[in-house]
Amino acid sequence: MKIICIGRNYTDHIEELKNEKPSDPVVFIKPDTSVLLKKQPFFIPDFSDNIHHEVEILVKITKVGKHIDRKFAHKYYDQIGLGIDFTARDLQSSLREKGLPWEKSKSFDGSAVIGDWISKDVFSDCNNIAFHLEKNKEVVQKGNTKFMLWKIDELIEYVSKYFTLKIGDVIFTGTPAGVGAVQTDDTLTGFIGEQQLFSIRIK
Ligand code: ZN
Repeated sequence: MKIICIGRNYTDHIEELKNEKPSDPVVFIKPDTSVLLKKQPFFIPDFSDNIHHEVEILVKITKVGKHIDRKFAHKYYDQIGLGIDFTARDLQSSLREKGLPWEKSKSFDGSAVIGDWISKDVFSDCNNIAFHLEKNKEVVQKGNTKFMLWKIDELIEYVSKYFTLKIGDVIFTGTPAGVGAVQTDDTLTGFIGEQQLFSIRIK
């Protein structure tokens, strides 16, 4: 199983990090070892002093596919989830300055939180799903899939040009504004609508 992540997919987040708006989706991969085991806390790694939370809508692939047309992309997933793309922002900045790949800052052990899944049939429109992240019961990130630069079906079309999608693969669809650092003893809780899909303790 692999995790395909999309960067810079919400204008408000591009602006907060002063990044350029991309002409194509920014894509990177997290390995299966990045998945934080269920009910486990997230341990701040010793190689970073600035771990950021990025809450993101997730899509779980249910069918093998390559070169998937956006018209048929909806047939390749039937569950929507919510997760966190933990990012060592300090390490990412230094790698980026040197023009090096981001993997060490994005794909380390425990960096991918995958919450509970919801059947996509629950949603009348996958391009209008509201979600938010609370840190210690205070809302820190709020988003809606309608504000994605590339919508879920377009992302599936795009990434499947490069990577064969396999059953169980997960797509992280990018984060809205409000990313920020986590500290020991924080609790991060993620919601789609009013439904809580994960709660993570930081250690
Ligand atoms: Zn992200």
